[in-house]
Amino acid sequence: MKAIIIGAGIGGLTTAIALQQRGIAFEIYEAAPELKTVGAGIWLGCNAMNVYEKLGLAAALKERSVLLETVFIKDTSGNTLQLVNNLEIKQLYGNATHAIHRGTLQQILVAAVRTPIQLGKKCIRIEGGTVYFEDGSTAQGDLIIGADGIRSVVREQCVTKAQYRYSGQTCWRATVNMDLPAAEQHNSGEMWSKKGGIRASASQLGDHQVYFWMTKAIPAGSRYTPADAYTLIQQELQAFPKELQEVMQRIDPEQLIHGDLYDFKPIAQWYKDEVVLIGDAAHATTPNLGQGASQAIEDAYILAAYLSKETDINAAFQKYQAKRIKHAQSVVSMSYTLGRITSLKNGIGSRLRNYLIKHTPNWIARRQFHLLYDVNLNVE
Ligand SMILES: Cc1cc2nc3c(=O)[nH]c(=O)nc-3n(C[C@H](O)[C@H](O)[C@H](O)COP(=O)(O)OP(=O)(O)OC[C@H]3O[C@@H](n4cnc5c(N)ncnc54)[C@H](O)[C@@H]3O)c2cc1C
Repeated sequence: MKAIIIGAGIGGLTTAIALQQRGIAFEIYEAAPELKTVGAGIWLGCNAMNVYEKLGLAAALKERSVLLETVFIKDTSGNTLQLVNNLEIKQLYGNATHAIHRGTLQQILVAAVRTPIQLGKKCIRIEGGTVYFEDGSTAQGDLIIGADGIRSVVREQCVTKAQYRYSGQTCWRATVNMDLPAAEQHNSGEMWSKKGGIRASASQLGDHQVYFWMTKAIPAGSRYTPADAYTLIQQELQAFPKELQEVMQRIDPEQLIHGDLYDFKPIAQWYKDEVVLIGDAAHATTPNLGQGASQAIEDAYILAAYLSKETDINAAFQKYQAKRIKHAQSVVSMSYTLGRITSLKNGIGSRLRNYLIKHTPNWIARRQFHLLYDVNLNVE
């Protein structure tokens, strides 16, 4: 059996490593001409770290990331609205959230893939097990894994069309070479404005870097020059604590990564014939729960496990989808709803939301963590 993986993002690379561990042959193709170690930070949830334990990568990731002992939501006056004790989560589920630079994560994953990653290979068409690339070359396999992200060509051509949804929020991200004060390095989270639909965060990553992001509720497609974006962020953060403003002031405007936040309505089918989808191609989610990559990582592990267990590829796809789809879709829905709640611009609505979050019983938050982290990685 030979698999063709389309896309060498977090999902595609993790799939390659999982297939490799199971002794399944694969080739991996990526549209980008080179794998640059760019991007901002990312939080890898307890569930992602549990998969990487099984793939033998957790130690390397822990060495280059920061374990978040507590994760908070605060308002701009510093009042805690929600506090999660990650050490308790670690005790219950085996790991906790780690914050890492995307470039570092990519380096660790790429180093673990023993098959060369074919770069500059943009998939434009698939027909009967043959993948056609923009440069005129082709690849053939017994199965094709679409790990080509939210705007997946593989999904749109071979499986189903997605209906994209704008979350109502745009996002700016950046990393800064610095360390937060020691007391804040392992205690991180986000702050919500009391009006205007602004959220912002600064969290320590490994390798002496800090990850900054800010979201704002505005119509899709709003364009800003780096200088205008910088000025806007500065203005919006005036009501936020000075520690956050200090991180912001160290950002190089040219390094700001800007994007509107989209997902798509859950799709009912993740495979067709010899083609199967994983990660954002199957279930892109808004980043409100910090779970998109973690879900892709779970997909990768489970798909490889079924491919190694089942002799019939379609039976493997069917079991993979049956095990994953409901769970991933509930993450997408929770994240989408949270995004709508946090987009509230109106002052009264925002304060009421903050009040309700602050008074949400602990058991509700615990139930959510149980859903996210109590993942059975065994396949029957
Ligand atoms: C602002 C923001 C913050 C986020 N924060 C977090 C977080 O903290 N934690 C978390 O778990 N998730 C987070 N996510 C989500 C996470 O980034 C994604 O869920 C994750 O990257 C999905 O991985 P993927 O491999 O499925 O897709 P992608 O990362 O999109 O990778 C797809 C790859 O396929 C390649 N490709 C695309 N088209 C083709 C083609 N036609 N042919 C060949 N190759 C192709 C692309 O170049 C890319 O390398 C965040 C997302 C955003 C937008």
